[in-house]
Amino acid sequence: MLRSTLLWLSERKGLQGFILRSRIARRVARRFVAGETLAEAMEVTRRLNGRGMKVTLDHLGEAVADRGGAAQATSDYVRILERIEREKVDAGISIKLTQIGLAIDEDLCRANLRRVAEAARDCGNFVRIDMESSEYTQSTLRLFYDLFDTFNNVGVVVQSYMRRSEDDIRKLCSIGAAVRLCKGAYSEPESIAFQKKGGVDDNYLKLLSILGDCDSPLAVATHDDRMIEAGRRVARNGNRDRAFEFQMLYGIRRDLQARLVEQGYRMRVYVPYGTEWYPYFMRRMAERPANMFFVLRAMAGK
Ligand SMILES: Cc1cc2nc3c(=O)[nH]c(=O)nc-3n(C[C@H](O)[C@H](O)[C@H](O)COP(=O)(O)OP(=O)(O)OC[C@H]3O[C@@H](n4cnc5c(N)ncnc54)[C@H](O)[C@@H]3O)c2cc1C
Repeated sequence: MLRSTLLWLSERKGLQGFILRSRIARRVARRFVAGETLAEAMEVTRRLNGRGMKVTLDHLGEAVADRGGAAQATSDYVRILERIEREKVDAGISIKLTQIGLAIDEDLCRANLRRVAEAARDCGNFVRIDMESSEYTQSTLRLFYDLFDTFNNVGVVVQSYMRRSEDDIRKLCSIGAAVRLCKGAYSEPESIAFQKKGGVDDNYLKLLSILGDCDSPLAVATHDDRMIEAGRRVARNGNRDRAFEFQMLYGIRRDLQARLVEQGYRMRVYVPYGTEWYPYFMRRMAERPANMFFVLRAMAGK
């Protein structure tokens, strides 16, 4: 109930302005968001690299509604890639297609995505296409497949709460596409998505076992001990040359992130930054309503 309310609020523009201006919310958001500027995100990246962790940078923003905004976001990503190369940090990028025009026009988005993928290729870097709400699942995969014909430095995300995901995984495996497997962070109807944690988790384990049987580069994105144990099994039993990594979000289960590095696993931290942190922040609240405790504690001035 609280989860769906928080997810509903994450899409309300009215509350957004209020939360973005709130000093308390900004303070709590800093737990999950690296800062508002690229300089701050680079600082966090260097710190994580120093602890043996790789990074994927997300310049926060989504549901961009005008062409100018989409062009700006595209140029920003090109600049981020150049900065990563210049500063020699170990980081790639994660990108939401609605930030570069998918909510406006698919062809516009295709052209923008191609620009980012080209820039990444020129820098020897990698672009992960985040998966958004189900309204965009099919078009996101379509754009990914179009691009994958020419670029092998792009990967996509599959969400285990979606009932269609087994078919998607089998197709992605058959072409050797790089997959990040996560549970899914949006509010989706029962007809297309598992609603209960048990169903989402069982499907995650099933998808992971399918992915275990193919050689696609694999990113196991979760903070859940059971999923991580299953990921370990895939890493142990699979092809040694396969690119395998765990991925977790900045600020969540830092102890576990460090432990996996100590155990010799490749660990990549998803580092979001920027001024548009409201929907991202609300999704993190929805995943673990206990996080609201931090907000309440900050409000109480503790
Ligand atoms: C690297 C990465 C990339 C992602 N990319 C996408 C994407 O492209 N599209 C998409 O829809 N979703 C994405 N997600 C979000 C994902 O779908 C889940 O919503 C999120 O990871 C929570 O699921 P979980 O696997 O951690 O399991 P859960 O069952 O939600 O949580 C397991 C345990 O992890 C801890 N935990 C989980 N979330 C939080 C939190 N917010 N605060 C504090 N503790 C927490 C708690 O201890 C919890 O008990 C991504 C997640 C990661 C890690």
